Amino acid sequence: MQRRTFLAAAGTALLAACSRPADDAAPTPAGRSPRTSGPAPTSAAPTTSSAPPTPATAAEVLARATVPVLCFHQLRDFRPDDSAYARTLITPPPVFRAQLQALRDGGRTPIGVPDLLDHLQFGAPLPDRPVVLTFDDGSVTHHSVALPVLQEFGFPAAFFPMTVVLGKTDWLSADQLRDLDRAGMTIGAHSWDHQRVDRLTGDQWAVQLDQPRAELAGILGHPVDVMAYPHGMWSPEALPRVEAAGYRAAFQLADPLDPTYPLLTLRRIMPPPTWDGPTLLARVEAF
Ligand SMILES: [Zn+2]
Repeated sequence: MQRRTFLAAAGTALLAACSRPADDAAPTPAGRSPRTSGPAPTSAAPTTSSAPPTPATAAEVLARATVPVLCFHQLRDFRPDDSAYARTLITPPPVFRAQLQALRDGGRTPIGVPDLLDHLQFGAPLPDRPVVLTFDDGSVTHHSVALPVLQEFGFPAAFFPMTVVLGKTDWLSADQLRDLDRAGMTIGAHSWDHQRVDRLTGDQWAVQLDQPRAELAGILGHPVDVMAYPHGMWSPEALPRVEAAGYRAAFQLADPLDPTYPLLTLRRIMPPPTWDGPTLLARVEAF
C-alpha cells in the first residue's frame, strides 16, 4: 500500500490489522532451513545479582513458553459501518471490563512482559496462573479506555503501536505513550506502517524494524526491546533481522514457536468480544 493511501485509510482499514489473512498458510518447521545461530539475545540480563544469570537455551525457553498472552485491538463500541470481520477485533468497553473481571474471578494474575521474558530467559519465578495482556496498533482507546481499567484492576500490560499513526486523530500521541510508560506499562514496536516482516526487502528492514524502535525509545527516553509482528506474520528468514535490530522478544499469533528463536516467535490469542467469561477462561486455560 502506498504510504499516503495508508494514512488516509488508517482510521478504518487497520481494524483488521493484526489478524493474519485467512488464505495464508502458516509457515511450518518442516519447510525451514537449518540454522546454526544461537538463542535469542541476552544483553538485557538482570543485574541485581552478583553473578550474571545464565540465559536459557532455546529448548528451555520452548518448555517454559506456556504463559497465555492475549492480544486486543480497538476498545470501543461498534459503529454501523464496522464490518462483521472488524467486529471480531473491536472490543466494546463493557466487554473489555467483563473480560478482565473474568480473568480476575478465574484466578488469573496478569504479569508484565518483562516478567514473562525474565521467566522465559532466566527462569525467574512467576505467580500462579499468570496471563499477559497486549494491545496492538496504537489506537487512542488504549489510553482512553484500557489504561484506566487496567489501573483500576492493577493489571500490567504491553502496547505495540505502529509509529506511522502516532499523533494522528484516533491514534496514540507521544504524550499518551509516555503516560502508558509512566503507568508501568511496556511499550513495544509494531513496525512503521504495518508491513509484514516476511515480505520485507532492502531498506524496509531498517524502516520497519530499526527506525520504529529508535523512535519509540526517543519518545520514552529509554530503550525499547520488544515488538509484535504486523498481522502476526513472520518467517524464519526474518528472525535474524529481528534479533540484529535489537529486539529481545517478539510476539506473533498462532504459529508454533520457532525452535531456534522461540523468544522471537511468542504466541498470542485474540479474544473476540463474543467470548464471555467462561469461554475466555477456557481458551486461556487451553493456550
Ligand atoms: Zn497490528
